[in-house]
Amino acid sequence: MSDLRYKRILLKLSGEALMGDAEYGISPDVMGRLAAQIGDLVEAGAQVAIVVGGGNIFRGAGLAGAGMDRVTGDHMGMLATVINALAMQDALERHGQKCRVMSAVRINQVCEDYIRRRAVRHLEKGRIVIFASGTGNPFFTTDSAAALRAVEINAELMLKATKVDGIYDADPAKVPDASRFDRLSYDEVLDRRLAVMDQTAIVLCRDHNMPLCVYDMTQDGALLKILRGDQSLGTWVD
Ligand code: UDP
Repeated sequence: MSDLRYKRILLKLSGEALMGDAEYGISPDVMGRLAAQIGDLVEAGAQVAIVVGGGNIFRGAGLAGAGMDRVTGDHMGMLATVINALAMQDALERHGQKCRVMSAVRINQVCEDYIRRRAVRHLEKGRIVIFASGTGNPFFTTDSAAALRAVEINAELMLKATKVDGIYDADPAKVPDASRFDRLSYDEVLDRRLAVMDQTAIVLCRDHNMPLCVYDMTQDGALLKILRGDQSLGTWVD
């Protein structure tokens, strides 16, 4: 019998989270650590879906700021998430996990197309599913894609991995006396414009009662404790 409070989860990993301390790209150390943490969840009986970002490689808004057509920039951003998804798949497989990448943009020589019912079947069979290409549409973010997929696959909890232990009223890296929240409502996050996820993602979570936990990915074992029901870790939005 599994002792998990949350069995099916959606984990959002931003591109920045995969970068470690570097300025760009993917850190093999960070990928290895994440793969071990995620593997522990599967071994404990969890069904794990992941949405990866692409901001460590390209962001459409940044490219548009430099003069590129925004939709082209967003297409590049979505392809960047495919690169990250393949790297994450490789790291998970090297840790002995079964994994499938599913892309919202068709690129089926390198990964599967996103088909909801097939994604759920993979999860039921104990495979980790990585959703790539965000929503498949420009002008959206992978935070919104994470909320969308979490709702679509009936996840019980959405988690956002960050380098700090929750949501603060200001960036704790810049404001030393920033204060941390244990728990917030969706509307508090929206009203205070807290920089945790974009507003579209929070609204989607609110409208579909998808609880969100923002936790510290650098703390080994935190993910598993959260899935076992420890609410003292991270900030909870519900
Ligand atoms: N993107 C998009 N549609 C989506 C998701 C992402 O066009 O549904 C593009 C967008 O350009 C975005 C980039 O992909 O900047 C990378 O995603 P995001 O910025 O969300 O990555 P993260 O900040 O999580 O690393």
